[in-house]
This record gives sequence, structure tokens and C-alpha cells, in this order.
Amino acid sequence: MHEPEHLVIRPPSEARSLLVRTIRGCNWNRCNFCGIYDFFDTPFSERGLEEVLKDIDTLADRYGDIFRTAFLGDANPLHLPTEFLTAVLRHLRKTFPGLERVTSYARASSLAKKTGDELKAIRHAGLDRVHVGMESGSDAVLRLQKKGTSQAQLIEAGKKTMASGMELSYYFLLGLGGQELWEDHVKGSALVLNAVKPHFVRVRRLWIHPMSRLMEKIRTGEFSEQTPEGTVVELRDLIAGLEPSPMFFTCDHANNYIQVHGRIDEHRDDMLRLIDTFLALPEGQRQEHYRAVPSVI
Ligand code: SF4
Repeated sequence: MHEPEHLVIRPPSEARSLLVRTIRGCNWNRCNFCGIYDFFDTPFSERGLEEVLKDIDTLADRYGDIFRTAFLGDANPLHLPTEFLTAVLRHLRKTFPGLERVTSYARASSLAKKTGDELKAIRHAGLDRVHVGMESGSDAVLRLQKKGTSQAQLIEAGKKTMASGMELSYYFLLGLGGQELWEDHVKGSALVLNAVKPHFVRVRRLWIHPMSRLMEKIRTGEFSEQTPEGTVVELRDLIAGLEPSPMFFTCDHANNYIQVHGRIDEHRDDMLRLIDTFLALPEGQRQEHYRAVPSVI
């Protein structure tokens, strides 16, 4: 009996999605703050097309056409050749005709390597949205964290993806510049977001795994972790730096100290007011709030 492979992680917004593994682990796997695929003992490797198609058939036999959304993993299906990815998408759409949305993680470097026509072909085959870990738009922070991309590439990849007709979700990581680079982190990120105007910006707060390379840098003094209050100030400054656009901004993760959500062109001032109201609370109350919010991956 064929057993479909499982993903290591998926975005919170894909909690009810059909999950399809097209590739194992992360082909980059060098970001200092990450290590997720090492922790779950999942080295990078490619899968055969027939195997992936068989997974889809088995999932259909098992569950029927009950899903409205599907998510492709693991870390970077856009690393796959375009013909491979479009074959998977076409088969998925044919086997699960009830799907209304198919999304995937993607690295900006892989999106940048595809031509505009390739991205359009992927969109046409059925990929509606890509979730991209921008993390920061600052070159200094991207270098420090070994993200393997740059401000210019994030802009190029983002614009190309938007032009393909796919929806684009950029993830921003509060605290990634530490106490030394936080201003550049916020400024560079606002610059990228204003240039690309992705459909979604999803905010997370940096969570440092005890076994990660970043924790080692903290031990050696190469990285000073941002304070809880510092991450709230980063959030406020990032929102303040965004130009009006329909971009949907959301702190949709449990480890954010402040959860604000809304369209930048309609709700930016409300979000800023909420953050400023919090920052005006007495010190003791703010610290109590920081202690009460869980630090989770
Ligand atoms: S953050 Fe993303 S790109 Fe970086 S190592 Fe982790 S999975 Fe790979």
C-alpha cells in the first residue's frame, strides 16, 4: 500500500489544506536563524515525478474531493524544474477538481531564476499563491543571517511574481537584525515592501532555537537579541514606513506581542494607534504582557 510523504511545516493559513510534498527539506538550508529541517532530520533531496503523482492519487482515494485548498512543500518547490512543477499542478487540479486555491513556499532566489513566462506557466497550471520568507529587506541583515538573497533580488523576484498573476505573501521577521541592525532591518524591509507591494505581509517574531547557529552567535557575542519592546517598536516603524496600498498586513502568529491586521491603505492609522496605545501603558503592565506571550517557533 503506497503511503504519501508528509510535510515538515506549513503556514498557519494552510491549516485545513491538502498537503502535498513535492521536494524534501530545503535546498538552501543555511539561514542562521532557521535549522528547521535539521531539527526534523530532513536533509534536502528531490523526489521522482511519478512518486509525487502517486501521492496525489493515494490522497484522493483516501479523502475524496473534500479539500478547498492545497499547499505544496517542503521549503521550496519553486526550485523544481518548471515542467515538473506544472505536471504536478495539472495532476493535482485534475484529481481534486474542488480546489479553489493552491499555494506553496518559495525562495526569492528560485523565483528570480525563473523567467516571466515560466512563472506565468506555473500560475496557469494552477499555483495561486507563493509564501516567501523575505525575513528582512536589509542587505546587512540578509548577509548576517546567511539568507542567500539580497534587497535587489527580493524586489526583482517580487515584481516578477506579481506580474505573473500569482498572489505573493512576504514574511517579515521582527528582531532579525538584533539590537545593532534593527533600524536598517526596518528601513530596508519597508523599501522592499513599498517597491513590490505584495498582496500579503505576514509578521513573525524571531524565535531562536537553542541548537541553532544564531544561538551560537549569541553565546559568542556576535549577535545581541532584540528586546521584546524593541520588536514592538520595529513593528510600529515598519507599518509607519509603508506607503498606502491594498497590501494586507497581518501578525498571524501566536508569538507576536501585538497582533494587528488590516489593509495598509485603510487600516494603517488604526494599527499604529493600537501599538502606540500599548506603548503608552505603564512599564510594569507592558513587561507583564511580554512575559505572558509564548515564545514559539
Ligand atoms: S529559512 Fe527557509 S530558506 Fe532559510 S534555511 Fe530555513 S527553510 Fe531554508
